Order: sequence, then C-alpha cells, then structure tokens
Amino acid sequence: MAVRIGVLALQGNVREHLAALTAAGAEAVPVRRASELATVDGIVLPGGESTTMSTLLATFELLEPLRARLRDGLPAYGSCAGMILLAEEILDGRPDQHQLGGLDVVVRRNAFGRQVDSFETDLEFTGLTGGPVHAVFIRAPWVEKTGGDVEVLASVPEVTSAGADAGEAAGRAVAVRQGRVLATSFHPELTGDRRVHALFVDMVRTAR
Ligand code: GLN
Repeated sequence: MAVRIGVLALQGNVREHLAALTAAGAEAVPVRRASELATVDGIVLPGGESTTMSTLLATFELLEPLRARLRDGLPAYGSCAGMILLAEEILDGRPDQHQLGGLDVVVRRNAFGRQVDSFETDLEFTGLTGGPVHAVFIRAPWVEKTGGDVEVLASVPEVTSAGADAGEAAGRAVAVRQGRVLATSFHPELTGDRRVHALFVDMVRTAR
C-alpha cells in the first residue's frame, strides 16, 4: 500500500510538493486541519514564508497537534520555510514566530537573500545516486550549526556550477537529516528532479 503523505497546505508551494510526492509513488494529500493531519504517515512543510505559515498554524489550531505528532516520530520534510519551521533555533527570525522544532539546528533566515534574492547551483547530495542535484534557493535559510545527531547531506560549493564565487554561502550546510526529519534550504519541488522526494517517501515507508 502506498504511504500517505500530507503537505501542510496553509501557504506556499503546496501543489508542487503534492505533484512531486505523487510522482515519487506516495498518496499525497493537503493538510489544513488536525483531523487531516491525524491520517498521514509523513508530512511535508513547503517553501513559502515561515512567519506567515507560523501565524496560520496557530489560526488553524495545527501548532500543537503538529508538534505532538513530530514528538511522536512523524517523518517530516521541510523545504526552505519548512526547514525554518523545523529548526530548534532561528537567527534573523521574527521574535513572535512559532517553531515546530524536531531538528537540532540553528538556521539563519533569509541568509541567501542578503546577497542576491535567488541563487542556484548543483550540489553533491549524500545518499542520492545519479549525479548532483540542481538546487534553487529563494531567499533561503542556511544551517549555521548542527547538533550531534544531525547529518549534513549537502553543502554549498566554493564555486557554483555556473562558475560564480559562492561568497559567504560557500561551505554552508543546505540539506540535513536527523533521524526521520529531513530538510533542505532549496526547492526540489520546483526543478522536476524527484530524488529528494523519493528519499523522503523511502524514509516514510521505513518508518511505517
Ligand atoms: N524567506 C522565507 C521565510 O523566511 C523562506 C523563503 C522560501 O521558502 N522560499 O520563511
């Protein structure tokens, strides 16, 4: 039976994640209420705007149910704003923004946005076969610090695949995993490469 994976559907790249998960062999469903959250084997927190999503999580009374399911080991994948929501600590966040937690990292919000609004490069991604992943960053966070149980799966190279100096972004961790929680600073849902979603579908299958 296909695993059932929810995409938090309050704001952001919801349709793109639903399509990518479906292509990767999951049954993908939008999640807007706690009763929907209760039915899924895994959850994707999409890119968008973490402060807006945080407000809507409270409005839709999803904050506590989602925190509770994450504490119970619900597999989660956060991309960009989703990574920020999962992080234990946010630098340059809005003081009132809520965090879900579950990922023992410190992220800097809008880290790439201070130099250029978007940034693209190919990345070596540990555990994925078939060559580098093309990563698109849109006012993206990067990971500044990782806890002992966090594995770094991809970091920004010194020189981008287009030949540009990566500057301050060089060497920053942009894909991490801690057990059942996966996060990327970039947006694989926008490029048509389904390998990151396939990795998450596998994680959900294994957990179930
Ligand atoms: N800058 C956004 C935030 O703070 C994230 C951007 C994105 O998800 N593309 O949530």
